[in-house]
Order: sequence, then structure tokens, then C-alpha cells
Amino acid sequence: MDPGLLAGPDLLAEWEGIRAVDHHCHPLLRWPLDLTPLRLRAVFTEAADPVIVREHVPCTVAYRGAIACLAEALGCAATEEAILAARDGDDPGTYANRLLERSGTGVLLLDHGFGGEAVFTVAEHRREISLPQYEIVRLETLAEDLALGVDDPSEWRQAVHAGLRVAVEGGACAVKTIAAYRSGLQLRRHSPDVVAREFSQLRAAVRRDDDHPAESTQSRSRLSGAALCHTLVFDAAACCRALGVPLQVHCGFGDPDEDLALASPLGLRPLFEDPELHGLSVVLLHCYPYHREAAYLAAVYPGAFMDLSLAIPLAAADGARALRESLGLCPWSKLLYATDASRLPELYFVAATRQREALATALSGLVDDGFLSGDEAVEAGRRVLAGNATALYGIQPG
Ligand SMILES: [Zn+2]
Repeated sequence: MDPGLLAGPDLLAEWEGIRAVDHHCHPLLRWPLDLTPLRLRAVFTEAADPVIVREHVPCTVAYRGAIACLAEALGCAATEEAILAARDGDDPGTYANRLLERSGTGVLLLDHGFGGEAVFTVAEHRREISLPQYEIVRLETLAEDLALGVDDPSEWRQAVHAGLRVAVEGGACAVKTIAAYRSGLQLRRHSPDVVAREFSQLRAAVRRDDDHPAESTQSRSRLSGAALCHTLVFDAAACCRALGVPLQVHCGFGDPDEDLALASPLGLRPLFEDPELHGLSVVLLHCYPYHREAAYLAAVYPGAFMDLSLAIPLAAADGARALRESLGLCPWSKLLYATDASRLPELYFVAATRQREALATALSGLVDDGFLSGDEAVEAGRRVLAGNATALYGIQPG
């Protein structure tokens, strides 16, 4: 192949037959659903404030690009009304499966801890969506559920360990932590006294919830506090290492419920330096705007992997630049493909399309600048789209 002839679209054509492994995404909303322009906009932002959704999302490059991307796929005008009319004219299941199929996705690794009761359960999702699926266990949700039936922190930690083991033996392929949201990622070991104090507060709160059930799972008491959250992460890391599954860690970009200042993956250094955790694989999710820090960790620690999901598609054209910056230090054998999509098949389709485009733009730029041959760029893309994830998670490609 002549490297000089390679450009973004050529790489996309080279990868056309590759069914991507989406190593981190979330379930779809149950259908039928009444989708309005505001509900469509709401999935293309991390903002919770309705003013942002109503007035400002339509003025983002990411959303305009998403509308254009969907219009091309659906063969309709590039307006919200035309897109909603196109989906309304179809059976919701047929429509969703068709968009997922067209996204080039072969396998979904799903974290069911996002979306509450409005999204499909594990069993429902398997029934409604034809793509092969694996489950990712969300650590904090499991730990909250188990806090009710135990009396002290050590009993609770043992129960969490047992719960993770059961989930993995039942087919789950990874554990995910959202400690970034609950305590920040400046990981450190905490004294047993502080862990015990925070645990007493958690147990009192979940017992109150049990006596007075909340109307939705959104308003129930949540695990929080650095001592409890960090202790759980260390425990989960040891458990993942023993069970031979990766630990996914939310880093960087997310909704305003997290303090982004405390979400740099550099705070996870203890997971890589502790000799007892040697051999653990840690997957740094999202990462943006800390993708260069994540790339550094991937470059120096064998167990560190990363992706740029969520930033792609929400950072629009900046996603390709971030991907190229990540490839400055991160070996492409450590970079993974994911959408972090949730709720609507439209978001899956746009996120998947933008991931491939960003990868093609980043790698073809490296070919143009003389760093890679065309063949190397094609192979790097194959690894990122599917090869790295199938090896890391020990799963079958789609
Ligand atoms: Zn996610």
C-alpha cells in the first residue's frame, strides 16, 4: 500500500469490515418512548440544567454534527423534527437494532448502573438488542446494596468481595468504579477508625431508606466519603486481579455531580505501584481533558489502558485532536474503543461514527507527517477497534 495515498476516508474503508468491541457503554431506554427535541438534546450533553439543554445544546458543534450525521444515516433533512419523524415511522426495536447494526458495533460491554428504572434490565436488553452483550459490574451500586444486611465494615467488605466473585463467575467481564464521583481519585489508604465511622453513617442512611422507601432509586442514600470509597477501590482492585478481570475507572469528563478537579487519573498511581496489585489491568475511561496524563500512565505501567469515550462525540472535532495527543505517549496496544453511549440508539450511532472518524483522522495525520506507514495505521486501527479489547477482556469478537 502506498502510504501517500492514505487519508481518513481510506482508513475508514480499510476498517469497514471490522465489528468494533464497544468496551464501555450503557443500556437503552425502554420503548415505546415519547421522544421530544428536548429529550434528544439531553443525551448529547453532560449538563443537567434544563437551560443548557434548551438554549445552548443546539449551539454546540457536537449537536449540529450529530444532527447532520443522523440525517445522512436516516435519509432525512438535518432537523430535529425530521429525525424524530423518521424514528416515529418505524417499529422502535427494529429501528434501534438497525442503527446499532449500522454503527459497526459487534459486541457491547454494558454497565447497567446508569439510567435507573427507565432503562432495560440486563435480561430485557439481551432480549431486545440482537448484538452480543457482556455485563460490567458497578462497584458502588453493589456495595450500597450490600450495606443493609451487615454489621461492620469487614463483614461488608467480605460481602462485596463475594458479590464481585459471583458476578464474574456468572459472566461479567469487568468491574467499574465511579469513585471519581463519590470521593475523587486521589487514592490513599485510610485508617480503620475512619472507615468504621464512615461505614456507620452509610449503614444508618441505608437503614433509613429501608424504613422509608424513596420513590425512585435516584434519591436513595449513596455511598460517599474518601475512606469508604478508596477502601472499596483497593479491595476491588485486589479482587479483579485475583479473578483475572480488568477494573474500569471513570476518569476526567463527566456530569457536574463530580468535581473534575479531583478526577485526574494521576491519582490512581497507588494501583500501579502496589506490588500486591501487580498484574492488575486498570482501564481509564473517558480521561478528557486528562487524556495526556492517562497516556503517560499507559506508557509507563503495563497494566494501564485508556479510552476517549464520552469526549467523543461530545468534544466534537476536538476528539480527533485528543486521540492524536493520546497517541503521543500511549501505545496503540493500550488504546480502546468505546462510545459510553446510553439511553438512545441515536447516541450510539453518532458516538460510534465519530469514534471511527476520529481514529482515522488521528492515524492518517500521523501517516501524513511521516510517523507511521499506511500499513501500520491500518493495523493500529484494527487493534483499537476490536483486537485490544478482545484480548484484554478475554471475549469473543462480534
Ligand atoms: Zn459510562
